Amino acid sequence: MTQTRRTFLTTAAAAAGTITILPFAARAAAHGGDIFQTATGEVAVFPVAHASFVMQTPAGVIYADPVGDPAAYDAYPRPDLILITHEHGDHFNADTLTALKGDGTHLITNPAVADKLPDGLKGAAEVLANGDSTTWNGVAIDAIPAYNMTEERKNFHPQGRDNGYVLTVDGFRVYISGDTEDIPEMRALTDIGLAFVCMNLPFTMTAEAAASAVAEFKPKAVYPYHYRGRDGGTQDPAEFARLVGDASQVQLGPWYKPGELG
Ligand SMILES: [Zn+2]
Repeated sequence: MTQTRRTFLTTAAAAAGTITILPFAARAAAHGGDIFQTATGEVAVFPVAHASFVMQTPAGVIYADPVGDPAAYDAYPRPDLILITHEHGDHFNADTLTALKGDGTHLITNPAVADKLPDGLKGAAEVLANGDSTTWNGVAIDAIPAYNMTEERKNFHPQGRDNGYVLTVDGFRVYISGDTEDIPEMRALTDIGLAFVCMNLPFTMTAEAAASAVAEFKPKAVYPYHYRGRDGGTQDPAEFARLVGDASQVQLGPWYKPGELG
């Protein structure tokens, strides 16, 4: 086998552990991405942390609620689209967005986050309120309500402010809950191929409430995510999976580093 100098350098550097130059697919595999079939292609999902993930789709690379150290995204291509559900620090960080945004990156946010964007990001942002829809690169995007119904939790996510999203990518419908309880609008969703459903206390809902909603709207597959809570409010994704049973295919992802859940 003839090695080009570039191949050799890459291989040698990788062997020395100093640098890794791999095509995205290989890097994706190294990150344990999950593959879902669309009408004519694939969506690959890469949990990054808590409420943050990357989806590689036939329409482009989509980031959801990226926050924290931008280096966590070094292994992924720059985002073509960033979706932001709401203003809380585990979903929205202007510095992270500024670091991750590429020249062509489009942002979609709820109105409250749009008001908080620095000037450098405002021009790239499209604002969707609850019930609004848009199309990006052939992907239909619907802003779904996300809010608390329980009286003592209503101050966390008041009704009308925050978004969930449903994306229809190449015929494949993906629901991202944002921070919400098991609201009627979630239970009424139809034809969802993949859902990301939050669960934690005191901010959102229990694993039982999330599983009950999932059993009603029956996504083909579902990731429990955003399950670290406060004051003992962390929810158990295995318990969620047990409660969901056959209603959906439960996907467990590496949302937290060892020890992060306490
Ligand atoms: Zn949150």
